[in-house]
Amino acid sequence: MNFKIVRFVFIVISALLAIFVFKKNIPIAYFFIPLVLYNLLLVLGAIFIQWNFYIKSINSVATFKHFMDLDESKKNICLTFDDGIHTNNTPLTLDILKRYQINAHFFIIGKNIQGNENILKRMHDEGHSIGNHSFGHTWKFDLQSTKSMQLEIEATNQLIKATIGEAPVLFRPPYGVTNPNLARAIKNTNMLSMGWNLRSFDTVAKSADQLLKKLIDNTKPNSLILLHERCDLTVEVLTEYIEYCLLEGYTFVTLKTNHEV
Ligand SMILES: [Zn+2]
Repeated sequence: MNFKIVRFVFIVISALLAIFVFKKNIPIAYFFIPLVLYNLLLVLGAIFIQWNFYIKSINSVATFKHFMDLDESKKNICLTFDDGIHTNNTPLTLDILKRYQINAHFFIIGKNIQGNENILKRMHDEGHSIGNHSFGHTWKFDLQSTKSMQLEIEATNQLIKATIGEAPVLFRPPYGVTNPNLARAIKNTNMLSMGWNLRSFDTVAKSADQLLKKLIDNTKPNSLILLHERCDLTVEVLTEYIEYCLLEGYTFVTLKTNHEV
């Protein structure tokens, strides 16, 4: 089920209802049922990136195999960090990852790059994958035109390229919200959308224990884990979480793709 199919079904049902209203005199209020259901699906499709409703996203480590060699006999998982660069937390996160020789995905907000170029360079030098997470990441991001979204994506790509010499391939939609304009912007900029299948809810976690439990309880092979660099609790639990995963035999992987921008 995706946007195009749902839209087609809605148009067909509406046309049939119109015929019935005209020929059989059924109440016009019947139109509201498909209209409400249609709008509900549009909203849910926008919120749940895993639905691949407006655009296909990479939502599981299992799908990495379409882009790279992946040893599927291993219990592969992947860490992703959004909303960087964070001047305090990002270096701490990088220190922890370095200690365990683990690579992760970092989805960077363009406006956070200025003044933090050295951190971005370090990220790249230490083998992490750098992705685009819009330029401004405001609440209005999804209300913009395709052109404006495209400009945000391109501005961040240019800043990243100017700092590390290469532009990112992966884009993570702010808040994980997608819509037709964003789908077009991602397509026009030749990016790949990456979602997740394990939401840590670190941004609203009340304590380190609660966050760690949430992560541990939900980690399974092919988990694509969403974390945020701006959350102090995330840095606090990261070491313990990594140690748990290693003890359980998980392997940390990142998506390597030769997809050209
Ligand atoms: Zn974000």
